[in-house]
Amino acid sequence: MIQHQSKLPEVSPSIFSVMSGLAHKHNAINLSQGFPNFKSDPKLLKLVTKAMQSGYNQYAPMAGAMELREAIATKFEYLYNTSYNPESEITVTAGATQAIYTIISAFIKQDDEVIIFRPAYDCYEPTIALNGGKTVSIQLEAPTYGVNWEMVKSKINNNTKMIIINTPQNPSGTIFSKQDMLQLQELVKGTNIIVLSDEVYEHIIFDNEQHQSACLYPVLKEHSFIVASFGKTFHNTGWKLGYCCAPKSLMEEFQKIHQFNVFCVNHPMQKAIAEYISEPQHYVELPSFYQQKRDFFLNLIKESRFKITPSKGTYFQVLDFSAITQENDVTFAKRLTIDHKLAAIPMSVFNENETDYKMLRFCFAKTEDTLEKAAAIICNL
Ligand code: PMP
Ligand code: GLN
Repeated sequence: MIQHQSKLPEVSPSIFSVMSGLAHKHNAINLSQGFPNFKSDPKLLKLVTKAMQSGYNQYAPMAGAMELREAIATKFEYLYNTSYNPESEITVTAGATQAIYTIISAFIKQDDEVIIFRPAYDCYEPTIALNGGKTVSIQLEAPTYGVNWEMVKSKINNNTKMIIINTPQNPSGTIFSKQDMLQLQELVKGTNIIVLSDEVYEHIIFDNEQHQSACLYPVLKEHSFIVASFGKTFHNTGWKLGYCCAPKSLMEEFQKIHQFNVFCVNHPMQKAIAEYISEPQHYVELPSFYQQKRDFFLNLIKESRFKITPSKGTYFQVLDFSAITQENDVTFAKRLTIDHKLAAIPMSVFNENETDYKMLRFCFAKTEDTLEKAAAIICNL
């Protein structure tokens, strides 16, 4: 057998693969990995076919189809009244994951420190480690997951190269306020710290809250990469299409890596999405679409023994099961899948030292029929 030294000795298959695999094996309703079980807009699918039939089947330009970059720039103007130059400040990527991987690879060197907030989405830390960086975690506490910005300030030193934020936040379902963004802006002002703002759920935000994009804050914008995902936004997670935006000098560094990482991404889908997002209603209607799903699900489980703090954004709902069992969350998640045929994600995997808070994350991007079946199981626990 070939001997090798793992570059990620601590890493095993992600919780999303594990729980979706278990759900499949045991024929359980899968509310674990985050993906919709309904079809996306037939109009969008037709646009992909049209693009393929029109011959857009060869490499796209390295930074992305120009129509799509222009449409993204228009969307920023429409939603946030700010602009990115499609020539030099926007790159289309193979999902948000590749954007995140490439941003971290472009800027993080040996011993650089990257601040992240926990519970955190799973792809940040391994990518930082692969590049020799050190993750500095700030653990946030349920149910508010509020940030103590003085504490963040105390973690910043000469090695701090990047801060990663994620609002609306996966897995907690919380959002950053305007006040949070102003505090962050104050912290990075006058420094060389890069902010990676993971905004893949920008269109999935509830109760009339406004998404606090990093681009809304001029100083913050100068420091930031904004990352987005068309897969998440338009119910096609399997398309793996996203983008990132940043000031020109940062984007130039990004593209040095991007061109050797993937060079370019799926061309016909870029053409289709360019046309699709030129009609703002396609993204403006998303918050109410998903809020309806959240409310439908929460109404069905309101008499259950789970403790509910309604999600403020994302298509995830965290539920506290401490009144049901004292098992740890990983054990409970597995038992729920195998014995009760309902899969969810244990929250501990996103926390520092895998702290068990007796919580599970459920994805409600599902049809009403599926949510009803899942709720019946939840109410019987
Ligand atoms: N960031 C967060 C917070 C996510 O939840 C996800 C999963 N959608 C991603 C990044 C990756 O997005 P994509 O599927 O477009 O790679
Ligand atoms: N973003 C999805 C989630 O949080 C998972 C994506 C993946 O499987 N890597 O469930």
